[in-house]
Amino acid sequence: MALIVQKFGGSSVADAARVMNVARIVTDTYKAGNDVVVVVSAQGDTTDDLIEKAHEINANPSKREMDQLLAAGEQMSISLLAMAIEKLGFPVRSLLGWQAGFNTNSVYGAARIKNIRTNRLEAEIAKHNIVIVAGFQGINRYNDLTTLGRGGSDTSAVAIAAVLHADKCQIFTDVEGVYTADPRKVENAQKLDEITYDEMLQLATLGAQVLNNRSVEMAKKYSVELEVLSSLNPVPGTIVKEKIKMEKMLIRGVTKDTDVAVISIVGLSDNPGVAFKVFSKLAQKKINVDIILQSVGRDGTKDLSFTVSRENGPLAIAQLEEMSIIEGKKITCKTDAAKVSIVGAGMESHPGTASTMFEALYAQNINIQMISTSEIKISVIIDEKEADRAVSAVHDAFIPNE
Ligand code: ADP
Ligand code: ASP
Ligand code: MG
Repeated sequence: MALIVQKFGGSSVADAARVMNVARIVTDTYKAGNDVVVVVSAQGDTTDDLIEKAHEINANPSKREMDQLLAAGEQMSISLLAMAIEKLGFPVRSLLGWQAGFNTNSVYGAARIKNIRTNRLEAEIAKHNIVIVAGFQGINRYNDLTTLGRGGSDTSAVAIAAVLHADKCQIFTDVEGVYTADPRKVENAQKLDEITYDEMLQLATLGAQVLNNRSVEMAKKYSVELEVLSSLNPVPGTIVKEKIKMEKMLIRGVTKDTDVAVISIVGLSDNPGVAFKVFSKLAQKKINVDIILQSVGRDGTKDLSFTVSRENGPLAIAQLEEMSIIEGKKITCKTDAAKVSIVGAGMESHPGTASTMFEALYAQNINIQMISTSEIKISVIIDEKEADRAVSAVHDAFIPNE
């Protein structure tokens, strides 16, 4: 008998028929003689709808009250799925995050799991109940509800698989696995049989929404092998693990991230310490900076551009405006940019990779605003309007059409 953790995302439980479908998948696994712990997200667009409701009342609600509200989405879906399983005649218990023992820190809206007290989970499993756990949520040391950040149910599932030493962790979603690009946007995207944690972590961080990046980080840390598969079509999915068989593919995927704001400061004095002062001012407010571009000094001045998340754009500008070295300088914040990236461990030993990517963009007459590279990825900042076209063009340049 194995212990299997199964996670179902919002689209997999979007309506009554989909909830019944999930109940069948879960009970089939249980009938085969396994213990099953299920993690579910809120139904369909519930989380987005709740955020909209909040903003109808208050444009800037406190993060604590937001978490109090958003946790309701998963509370609905766990009980509905439990009712569906009851209807099929199987023993089941639904648990909220705190009932399942999820202790987090107090960063509302982006809480980190500190530990999971497993006694309740273990007691329910020992009674041979199917256990349904609300993803995305936990409780902090003040007994307040917290949420883990968007897409956080993936992390809840991996965390449970890790603490319970589950034999399998299956992430069911609305596509058949991890593809070389978003299969809803890129016609020729190909499903990957396997992918390493490191490559998946890059893809997830750079915009492939199919897995939350923290969940991949945690899976790697605790060696939890993941299987990403469809809840609607029972075909083999993608395995995410440490080592995979040698692949000829130079790159494993192309991603798009539109959560990008480009901040530029023109005419900074070309003196030592300027970059230090700017970025330490941003660090004071924990503003994460991604790509940085500094021009060569000319006539005693230089320009500095960098990217932050769109949410942090206004805060970054406010911080800069407090600085004396910025006084009288022109600062702009562009929110119509996007980051397109290629990811693959194979590119490290292939010097032509960047030029192939840039040629594909040139052929589409797409202008590159910024570039950033590492051993296993190359990212470019371009106009958001051109991002989907860029992803397709870059994808076609690297991934042979089957
Ligand atoms: P869930 O609700 O199951 O958590 P998400 O919407 O968070 O599902 O993630 C699944 C979606 O991720 C897919 O519908 C797909 O459009 C998108 N996606 C983006 N990039 C990729 C990729 N490389 N491979 C697979 N899906 C991707
Ligand atoms: N319901 C949450 C969200 O929409 C968590 C999740 O789906 O993983 O982000
Ligand atoms: Mg998701």
